[in-house]
Amino acid sequence: MAEFADNFYARWRSQTGPGPILQEGRGDAPPEQLLQAIWQNQRLLVDQLRLLDGQPVRILHPGFRNREAGPDFRGAVVRIGSALPITGDIEIDLEPGGWTAHGHDQNPNFRGVIVQVIWSGDRPVAGTIPILPLRGKLDAPLAELADGLGRESAGDLVAAQQGRCCSPLGQLVPARQGELLQAAAQVRFRNKAGQLAARARQAGWEQALWEGLFRALGYKQNVWPLKQLAELRPEWSRATRDAFSLQVRLLGLSGLLPDQLSRTQKDADGYIRQVWDQWWRERDEWADRILPRSIWRLHGIRPANHPQRRLALAAHWLAAGDLPAKLEHWFTRNLRDSELVHSLEETLQITQDEFWSRHWTLRSAPLAKPQPLLGAGRVTDLAINVILPWLWIRTVEGKNDALRKIAEHRYCRWPAAEDNSVLRLARRRLFGGLRAVPLPTAAAQQGLLQIVRDFCDHSNALCEQCQFPQLVRDWAGLTGTGSVRESNPPV
Ligand code: SF4
Repeated sequence: MAEFADNFYARWRSQTGPGPILQEGRGDAPPEQLLQAIWQNQRLLVDQLRLLDGQPVRILHPGFRNREAGPDFRGAVVRIGSALPITGDIEIDLEPGGWTAHGHDQNPNFRGVIVQVIWSGDRPVAGTIPILPLRGKLDAPLAELADGLGRESAGDLVAAQQGRCCSPLGQLVPARQGELLQAAAQVRFRNKAGQLAARARQAGWEQALWEGLFRALGYKQNVWPLKQLAELRPEWSRATRDAFSLQVRLLGLSGLLPDQLSRTQKDADGYIRQVWDQWWRERDEWADRILPRSIWRLHGIRPANHPQRRLALAAHWLAAGDLPAKLEHWFTRNLRDSELVHSLEETLQITQDEFWSRHWTLRSAPLAKPQPLLGAGRVTDLAINVILPWLWIRTVEGKNDALRKIAEHRYCRWPAAEDNSVLRLARRRLFGGLRAVPLPTAAAQQGLLQIVRDFCDHSNALCEQCQFPQLVRDWAGLTGTGSVRESNPPV
């Protein structure tokens, strides 16, 4: 625990962090930036949210951070009371008066705001937009959220040029580079575990696991709708134990079930017809919880990752009813490092599905040969982001040191995930080239992503004010500020 809980990188974060964060309950509000990060990550008691006028509200999608003039988030989807979901913008202010004090009421850029999110306020102001206070509705203490999210930024990594840290990082031997990435990765892992534990305190360990798995199945584009469906699991999984019935409910609730048959894909039409045969009988019961189709981001998604297909897979996991137990069994198995991915893939894989093994989506033509519903790449994402943090935090809370060490070992040794554009950009910027730093493990990749989040996201293309280069120099006992361009040319 000591290693993962508190290493030198964790101390760097607290030294250079967002500053002292006020504790919830002292009558002080958090910084607005932290409130935005809390909103963006929905670290909220989602079932307990109420507007100032007392109406319950459900956040179906928090929206996308807006970096231009105007409200803080664009394109959020919320349901107020039992009304139909509405789509619009979200403005975050510390108190209700910010709406007029900042002139939003007169600014045409703010006409699309559907909810003003605030820290606290007493009573609604007549004639204003709905106001949602967050005080007392966070899923973890403010200090814990500040540690995990306080540096969060929705900004993309700045321009692809070498950063100032390139020089000190380039002077480290590979073993020291690895040590640094590993320390940052441990912080990231601990934050993910903390998020799962916070949710478990509200909803139980099993529900926290399901929500984590669903979120991870949503990739970046569809995290929120998948999370919404997972939060409703205790209701829709009730009294239903066969995979097809669960697929019907999930597809129906998702709003992704086509209303029309294609008339060109006969076997796909046959499946859709079967789903509708069952769904039309249930639909009225679920009417107020069906997600609007507009909440999904389907453009540019590979067919193999389509949310319809992910829901079909989740239905099988839920129908089997033993996934948490299987994961615990996998965790206690004696496995060589080389067996980690394959053994978990076997644990998560389902036997064939008559329709989904041969179709990517509800509209696609039949595949020439059956395809698994889960690939090795997704297995790694699930392991690193959900399964290992979930198992680890339970061993920590259960004070089981032997199993905790197994979780840490597997996290540190897990083979690297697929490369992506953020990692490529970070390797160029921090290390001067794509091959200038080895990222042999998923943890090393996670460490690099954490440094980007903690430091790059809070600086600019010139790395102004960034303390990371000096922290690295001090830690490694380096002197001078020589440019890496002299010693470590781009690869
Ligand atoms: S912002 Fe900091 S961590 Fe990022 S590239 Fe620049 S010096 Fe490195």
